[in-house]
Amino acid sequence: MLSKKIAAVNKSRCAACGACVKVCPRAALSVFRGCYARVDEAMCVGCGRCAGVCPAGCISVKERSLV
Ligand code: SF4
Ligand code: SF4
Repeated sequence: MLSKKIAAVNKSRCAACGACVKVCPRAALSVFRGCYARVDEAMCVGCGRCAGVCPAGCISVKERSLV
C-alpha cells in the first residue's frame, strides 16, 4: 500500500500565529483567512518542522494512505 507522512492541523486549537508557515521548507502551509493553518498535502513531505515549532501543539504528522 502506498503511503506517505503528511502534517495535519487541529483547526480548533490553531492560534493562526503563522510560526509553522515560516519554517516549512516546502511552502506547504498557509494561514487561511487569518483563522487557522492549512496544509497543502501535495507539497508536504512530512518533515515535522511545523509540528516542532507550533506553540499550540496542534500539528501532528501521520502516515497516510495515498489510495
Ligand atoms: S511536515 Fe514539513 S513539509 Fe509538511 S507542512 Fe510541516 S514543515 Fe511543511
Ligand atoms: S504554528 Fe500552530 S498555532 Fe501557529 S498557525 Fe501554525 S498550526 Fe496554528
